[in-house]
Amino acid sequence: MILANPVVNQVLDHPLLESKGVELAIKRLDLIHPTVSGNKFFKLKYNLEAAKKSGSKKILTFGGAYSNHIYSTAAAAFQEGLESIGIIRGERIEPLNPTLSFAENHHMQLEFISRGEFRKKDQPSFIEGLRKQFGDFYLIPEGGTNSTAIQGTSEILDKEDSYFSHIVCAIGTGGTFAGLANSLLGHQQLWGISSLKGEFIHQEIKNLLSNFSISPKGTWKIFSKYHFGGYAAYRQDLIDFIWSFYENFGVVLDPIYTGKLFFAVWDLISKDQIEKGSKILLIHSGGLQGNEGFTERTGIRLPNSSK
Ligand SMILES: *Cc1c(COP(=O)(O)O)cnc(C)c1O
Repeated sequence: MILANPVVNQVLDHPLLESKGVELAIKRLDLIHPTVSGNKFFKLKYNLEAAKKSGSKKILTFGGAYSNHIYSTAAAAFQEGLESIGIIRGERIEPLNPTLSFAENHHMQLEFISRGEFRKKDQPSFIEGLRKQFGDFYLIPEGGTNSTAIQGTSEILDKEDSYFSHIVCAIGTGGTFAGLANSLLGHQQLWGISSLKGEFIHQEIKNLLSNFSISPKGTWKIFSKYHFGGYAAYRQDLIDFIWSFYENFGVVLDPIYTGKLFFAVWDLISKDQIEKGSKILLIHSGGLQGNEGFTERTGIRLPNSSK
């Protein structure tokens, strides 16, 4: 079992919060593990146990070239003595970017497939083909969301978090949101900030909750207008926000998920969209490994990118 650091809730102090009468704290999942960071720790936790029990001792999963999920899976499998295979969308480009070179250094076998092929990743015949190629494996879907992952993300909130009126997280595949929804209390609201462009996310989350038989005790809501142009897109105001947040609070954010999430909450507070007296818990889901690759790709510096 991979060991976790204790998770702390960091309380923020800022004139805006005081003037709006809102309390804001961050659940620092980014500090839970040096390499299996953030929500991925929770998503992988029981999947690793299941992989070990499965007898195949080999994990196969999918992701993009900068994927936090690929990075964390490689690290976790390596640490647990499991083999891992990463099916990566797109061509192999040398030298490998920091995410993929980390994965390869942690003995993940990388297999690059075209975008067209990658779209078939949930089809049984495609998986069958992979089994012929790689032998038996324990499959984790892209982004790591399955029922075993949700069992893990249901443990993100603990007893003391009953203090909060609002829990807010970033949304990719929704596995983190689903786990939080599963452990939500009756007096709490769960808000998800979608990193993806499109209104489909409302239905997708509904389907996810119903497929996994989750009926939250509290209320929930998805915000679909804080994507900054799409999944890997960004704007200068997002980059500026990430820097100012770092300067104010010393907390590093990423431009794909947590930057958009924190921007959204700060924006809603500024625009009086959050009731006075609210006690908000922001889930810092990690993902900071991607900042270096982002800087390489765009030339834009971020708080923890080394170049
Ligand atoms: C993967 C990831 C998410 C999205 O989690 P889902 O469970 O797929 O919605 C959010 N934040 C970070 C930092 C991530 O790496």
